[in-house]
Amino acid sequence: MIKKIENKTVVDYRPPKAEMDPHRPHFFLNEPEKQADGNIKSVNTIFLTNRECPFKCVMCDLWRHTLDEPTPKGAIPAQIEFALDRLPNAPVVKLYNSGNFFDGKAIPRDDYHDIARLLANAEHVIVENHPKLIGPFIPEFRNLLNGSFEIALGLESIHPVVMPKLNKQITRENFSEAVRFLESHGISSRAFILLNPPFLKGVEENKRWCLESVKFAFECGVSACSIIPTRDGNGIMEKLREQGEFEPPTLSALESVFEKALSLNRGRVFCDLWDLNRFLDCEKCIDKRKERLKMMNLSQEVLPKIRCNCN
Ligand code: SF4
Ligand SMILES: [Zn+2]
Repeated sequence: MIKKIENKTVVDYRPPKAEMDPHRPHFFLNEPEKQADGNIKSVNTIFLTNRECPFKCVMCDLWRHTLDEPTPKGAIPAQIEFALDRLPNAPVVKLYNSGNFFDGKAIPRDDYHDIARLLANAEHVIVENHPKLIGPFIPEFRNLLNGSFEIALGLESIHPVVMPKLNKQITRENFSEAVRFLESHGISSRAFILLNPPFLKGVEENKRWCLESVKFAFECGVSACSIIPTRDGNGIMEKLREQGEFEPPTLSALESVFEKALSLNRGRVFCDLWDLNRFLDCEKCIDKRKERLKMMNLSQEVLPKIRCNCN
């Protein structure tokens, strides 16, 4: 029985990590995304390989494709170059690093100039970072870019009991301060929000707190929210599921909360579609429902529901 969640508890339940090459990105892809100016633009997303995030959030499985040692100097520019050589030209680039872009052991600060040089043609650059990891190094990096800059911050859940239990080590205030700091430096932000975080029970309760978290993020000033259905697969989440402390979301709940969040008309809302089949609640209509969510991400409009015997 898990009594107290600490870094060690999270790590103890982990399955083995993958072997990673520090000079190759973990993955990369190109997809369209609606931008803050209302235009749909081509986005290159590069999933960088780097030193593991020092935080140990309960629900995180991003550590699987990370390194144990600090990332060697020059490896990140080499990864970006490798990916961009194989991707189409795109005005927007996301550098997602399974952690925090401004963690100097993950992305060496001595590499900032080379990274910025590789992004010289990008109109807009997005990275991810922990809300507590803010400081002068952020505007310093932004000043090296030719285009605009945005940071994706994990808010996860503002539920007063769940938020501290996630071991993310943030408060609502930390999040709002981070957004304000970025705004004061002309940097926009987006929030990652969980549907069905661990320690929260009931379909309606989970939908409600997901939506409350989206509202809070917009009140803080983010320009977009990404809703992420919480997945198990990192060891401790399976254990929590066994103990009744984690209920995976259903696709219907995800659809419902996404529709409501879009209808707030407070900013862009995206729904994470990765590995959606695991939330399957009907085999017959899954493909059409996935396509609908994809089109809703792109259009930012609530589209007609898919009719099926299941609903
Ligand atoms: S801060 Fe992000 S990358 Fe780090 S453990 Fe938490 S969820 Fe994972
Ligand atoms: Zn169905």
